Amino acid sequence: MKRNDYISWDEYFMGISLLSAQRSKDSHTQVGACIVSQDNKILSVGYNGMPTGCSDDEMPWDRNGEFLDTKYPFVCHAELNAILNHAAGSLQNAKIYVSLFPCNECAKAIIQSGIKEVVYWEDKYADTDGVKASKKMFELTGVKIRRYIPTNREITIRL
Ligand SMILES: [Zn+2]
Repeated sequence: MKRNDYISWDEYFMGISLLSAQRSKDSHTQVGACIVSQDNKILSVGYNGMPTGCSDDEMPWDRNGEFLDTKYPFVCHAELNAILNHAAGSLQNAKIYVSLFPCNECAKAIIQSGIKEVVYWEDKYADTDGVKASKKMFELTGVKIRRYIPTNREITIRL
């Protein structure tokens, strides 16, 4: 008999986003992204981090101070990494699962890559101009946005 307590597609892909976020070296914000085809095949994953070759131990992770002493000019966001990690093929009509609503820079990359749906968990920066710009661009370009509905399911993975 088939078991019926298996996880849903949404739980699966959001779970992979959250697991990917655990790779982040950022002490304040850990974000993960998982890109999935229309027929639910995983195409790419990413998390926020310094560009390849920029040492995590030497780059700044601060949020305050002189611009060049903060992480902001350097960090690649999870969505951008997931898009760029997809080495081959098209992301046309794909979906992206993200643990945090995309900023306007990632929104542009999402749109340009052909991704057509964003499934997000948190939207804690909804009041910022950046996220407002994201939503404006998604609306104009017909990218569907959908809030993930937490199921409160707990899964223990012993590593
Ligand atoms: Zn971003």
